[in-house]
Amino acid sequence: MSLKDTKGNRKVVERMSRAIVNRSISHAYLLEGDSSIDKLGLAENFVKAILCGSGEGDSCDCCISCNKIDHGNHEDIVYLAAEGNSIKDEAVEELQGRLKKKPYVGDRNIAILQDADTMTLRAQNRLLKTLEEPAPGTVLILLSENMENLAQTILSRCVIFKLNAYELPEYNDVLDGAVEIADMLLDGKPFYAVSGRISEYTANRDAAFAFLDALEGWYRDLAICEYDAQGQMLFHADRAGDIRRRSRLYQRGAVDRAVAAVEEARNDLKRNLNIGYTLRNMILKLEDNRW
Ligand SMILES: [Zn+2]
Repeated sequence: MSLKDTKGNRKVVERMSRAIVNRSISHAYLLEGDSSIDKLGLAENFVKAILCGSGEGDSCDCCISCNKIDHGNHEDIVYLAAEGNSIKDEAVEELQGRLKKKPYVGDRNIAILQDADTMTLRAQNRLLKTLEEPAPGTVLILLSENMENLAQTILSRCVIFKLNAYELPEYNDVLDGAVEIADMLLDGKPFYAVSGRISEYTANRDAAFAFLDALEGWYRDLAICEYDAQGQMLFHADRAGDIRRRSRLYQRGAVDRAVAAVEEARNDLKRNLNIGYTLRNMILKLEDNRW
């Protein structure tokens, strides 16, 4: 399997491929998605493409490196997974020892951390040191179902890819809708106008979750763009110009509070609260948050 064979999540796959072609591979990634998604498979396809000599942003699927990964015995890849309920401090310590050594065959050490969100607090603190000062060529790929269990300090050092269990219907349309709503709120459009428009994008739960993901991704991009001069961590790197322009229009702290309000709405939906009620509640918070 190579990246191009990956089912769904095309946007993520494209970004992975582009990072390889542009030689802008980050030292840490977080793949976030529920248990129905083959996160390990995608991580391995990404790693194959990184280590493969084809240089086309994907793996050739037939060289020695690709074959080794398929057989789970590539010397430069370390796998870590929960033992019992968690990834323990000692396991991360051992991983760090390995990552300090030179790669055996290529020029990169790669670690794939399954169940990364089960890391104990001590384990997270330890891993943070590696994320802060990775040895050159190191790539860590964290797989998680629930990144809320990970410290903000870890998340802020990872390129985060949110994976969808189902193919989003025209993601760009959903994102356009989210941007439109964010702009309406910023412009102080009346509540009924905003809520009327939102309801068009949130006809059912799946659509509502997709919309909230897009809206949160947008706000998150607004929040981080000033720290991310090269746009490497932006979800919507292709809209970096728009993001930078808009971000200047918000008061300090407002965007962070907006991200929190969207997250709350998502949690409410997960708790099976009514969609309309949840979204109206969120709009009120976002309106309060303008100034
Ligand atoms: Zn290959």
